[in-house]
Amino acid sequence: MDLGPKFQGRHMPTEHRGTRFLLFPQLPSLEQQGEPETVWVSPLAGSVGPGPSDDRMYVIDPIGKEQPYGYYPGPNGTTVHYKPPWNGPLLEPALPDEGGHFDHLEFGSPQFEQAHAYGCVRFTVDIWEDYLGHPIEWHFEPEYDQLEILFLRGMDNAYAGYGSVEIGSYTTKKGDFVQFGLSFDVLAHEVGHLITYSLIHIPDGTELQDEYFGFRESAADMVSMITSLHFETALIGVLEASHGNLYTYNRLNRFGEVSDLDQLRLASNQKTMADFTKGWVREHQLAQPLTGAFFDIWVDIFHEILVERGLITREVEVLSDQLEWNPDYHDVMQPFFDDAYAKNPQGFAMALAAARDHMGTALISTWRRLVPQRINYLEILSVFAQVDEQITGGRYGHIIAVNKDRRRIGQYEVGPKLPKSSSKKEDKHSHNGLGTDEHGEE
Ligand SMILES: [Zn+2]
Repeated sequence: MDLGPKFQGRHMPTEHRGTRFLLFPQLPSLEQQGEPETVWVSPLAGSVGPGPSDDRMYVIDPIGKEQPYGYYPGPNGTTVHYKPPWNGPLLEPALPDEGGHFDHLEFGSPQFEQAHAYGCVRFTVDIWEDYLGHPIEWHFEPEYDQLEILFLRGMDNAYAGYGSVEIGSYTTKKGDFVQFGLSFDVLAHEVGHLITYSLIHIPDGTELQDEYFGFRESAADMVSMITSLHFETALIGVLEASHGNLYTYNRLNRFGEVSDLDQLRLASNQKTMADFTKGWVREHQLAQPLTGAFFDIWVDIFHEILVERGLITREVEVLSDQLEWNPDYHDVMQPFFDDAYAKNPQGFAMALAAARDHMGTALISTWRRLVPQRINYLEILSVFAQVDEQITGGRYGHIIAVNKDRRRIGQYEVGPKLPKSSSKKEDKHSHNGLGTDEHGEE
């Protein structure tokens, strides 16, 4: 399907301007891995140095680094902050080809993974800076000009910290070797954290509501999900498999997965705030009602755009609303979508890209307006509705209100944070702290 430059969006630098990378939209060890996609990132060809590196970030692959950055106990009850930069020895960096591009590296080499990690971070930053309308200033900029993206092979995790994104790799119980440097989902999620830290400055000592911690994970997942739909193969793949019936499709809404069985969380979930009145254990669970609300808002906006463009009828859209969360949804709705999609797959792709870009712009406009101590889900959806007033004149206000109520947001108090004793290990790329550093809680 030829979607033309409009699909790649206003975001994507065009040929002869940016720098080329090969990125896997999904972790390549999964069954439905697909091929890597050629992606252009914004720095001019020739301007990205060894590492890769540019003026905002650099990749290094340390030799002999044993612990992640973070806070560690020091002598006499003190705390030591172990932080960038790494000044020890390094593996050979990825080097550009003669044209200044990085899509020539051999898959399986450390240099391929180094370039892949840079490409994922840079691609994500490019897209969200475009949604924001100006560069994203790192929250650690008073101390560091550049983000250090580094590998800590053997760590079963990835962290966004103060001045760094640290990337592990490990072997699963099944024996699969997982390299987080090849996981676009995970790296985009970490960039999502850096984006909210940049936009929401939290002074030391600020009292935060519990929902802030759920919001933080939810926002990072939204960044990952929206960014991943800039891969043409991902967007077309979602549509080809679902025919546009996104409520019952499960590729879009699976994140941070490291194997087909290890599904960490769902965007298309049915959790409400009523599920958390007794308390919560993991921030990713607490995130689910908010992520679910935004996912459903996104799908509803997609349906509105399909109606506007004559790709589905208003009757189909109304029926979809009525049946949402009904067990018969799939059986009743799928034939309508099969039929409509077959008539104009390209129109569906353009509509999904439009809904994606609307969500990206509206979400980042919402985040930048949030006041840290007031952050809870009700406040976030209120600000999101105000942003909608400004962007569309309130056209999606009804959709926002319906999804807020369906998730019981603002109707229940969240219970206390409960001990982790009964919970499984925290997810593969979790972190703590308030944008200063995230290591230390597991
Ligand atoms: Zn996270």
